[in-house]
Amino acid sequence: MSKALEKFLSENLDDLKSKGLYNEIDILEGANGPKIKIRGRELINLSSNNYLGLANDERLKKAAKEATDRYGVGAGAVRTINGTMDIHDELEKTLARFKGTEAAIAFQSGFNCNMGAISAVMTKKDAILSDELNHASIIDGCRLSGAKIIRVKHQDMEDLRAKAKEAIASGLYEKIMYISDGVFSMDGDVANIDGIVEVCKELDIISYIDDAHGSGVMGKGAGTVKHFGHAKNIDFQMGTLSKAIGVVGGYVAGTKDLIDWLKVRARPFLFSTSLTPANAAACIEAIRIMEEDPSLHQKLWENGDFLKKELKNLGFNIGASATPITPVIIGDETLTQKFSRRLIEEGVYAKSIVFPTVPMGTGRVRNMPTAQHTKEMLLEAVRIYEKIGKELGVI
Ligand SMILES: *Cc1c(COP(=O)(O)O)cnc(C)c1O
Repeated sequence: MSKALEKFLSENLDDLKSKGLYNEIDILEGANGPKIKIRGRELINLSSNNYLGLANDERLKKAAKEATDRYGVGAGAVRTINGTMDIHDELEKTLARFKGTEAAIAFQSGFNCNMGAISAVMTKKDAILSDELNHASIIDGCRLSGAKIIRVKHQDMEDLRAKAKEAIASGLYEKIMYISDGVFSMDGDVANIDGIVEVCKELDIISYIDDAHGSGVMGKGAGTVKHFGHAKNIDFQMGTLSKAIGVVGGYVAGTKDLIDWLKVRARPFLFSTSLTPANAAACIEAIRIMEEDPSLHQKLWENGDFLKKELKNLGFNIGASATPITPVIIGDETLTQKFSRRLIEEGVYAKSIVFPTVPMGTGRVRNMPTAQHTKEMLLEAVRIYEKIGKELGVI
C-alpha cells in the first residue's frame, strides 16, 4: 500500500475511534422486518425505512422471481444502449400514473437520481435555493451542477421569498430552482407545499421536491405533492423506490419534456446499468398494492399515532412530527448514544442520531414504526422505553 494512503487511513481511523465516532455496522441475520436478528438476538426493529413492510412482502418476492425467470438477473446494458426492457417502461408509466404526471424516469437509487436530475438541468449560470436541512444527496447534486447554492432557513417561506427576490435582482442567474425534502426524516415534519407553489409561481422559480420519506407514506402512498393536490404545480416530483416501496431505486415524475430531457442528459441514466428486472417488477407490484389496497397505509399511520401517543404520555419530547417518524429528543449527545445502547440491550433496535446529522444539543433516538408492527410489539417497545427513560433520568 502507498505510504501516504496508509498514513491517511491509520491517522483518521484512529482519530474517529478515539473520539467514539467510528460506526461499527450491525449485521442482520435475515430480513429487515418488524423484528430483526443481530448476533443471534431478536430485537423489535424501529430503525428501518420499510414503512409498509413491502421489502419482504410475499407478493413482491413472487413478482421479482417471475421477472428473473423471464428476463434474467441483469439488464445487460445502460438504459440508453439496450438496457431498457418493457418492464422498465412499464415501471415508468406506472409511476407517472401514480404521481399524476405526464411521464416519469427511473434511476438505480434515490441518491444517484438527485445527482443526475439536478445537474441535468442546473448549470454554473444558475442558482439553487436549498432548505438548510436537505438530504446529503440533494447537497451533492447541487454541488455537482456547479450552480450557486443559497441556503434557505428551514421551512421559512419568507426567507425563501426574500432570497429568491435578491437572486433575481442580482441579474447573475439564468434560472433559479428551489429544492426541499417533502418529509424531513430527522423530525418527521412535512414541507409547506402550498407555500412553495405560491412563491415559485409568483417568481417563476423551478420547484423540486425530494419525497424519499413521503413516497408510500403521504397522499395515500402517492406522496407529499399529491397529498396537497399539487401534482401539476411542482416541476420535479422526485422520490425513491428504496423506502416505503421496499425495493431500491429513485425516480422523477414530471412533464413529458422534462423527462425526455433527463433521458438524454441525466448521467446515471446514460452511464450506469439499469435497474434489474426483478427490481422493476417488484416496484410495479408495490404500486399496484398501494393503489388497490389502502390497509397497509392505514396500519402504518395507526401504528405511528399509537407510538407517538404512548411515548408522549410517558413524558418524552417527541418533537413536532406530522408523519409516522417518531423522534425521541434527548439533547445531550453522549446521553442519547447511551440511551440507544441500553434500548438495544433490552430488545429494541432504535438508533441514536446526533451532531452533525442534527444540530448540536438536539440528539435523538429515532423511531420508525411500520405497518408490520403489532400492538404487542409496540407496547413492549414502550415498556422498555419507560424503563430506560427512568433509569437514565430522561423522564
Ligand atoms: C434516503 C434518501 C435519499 C436516497 O435514496 P436511496 O434510494 O436510498 O438512494 C434521497 N433523498 C432523501 C431525502 C432521502 O431520505
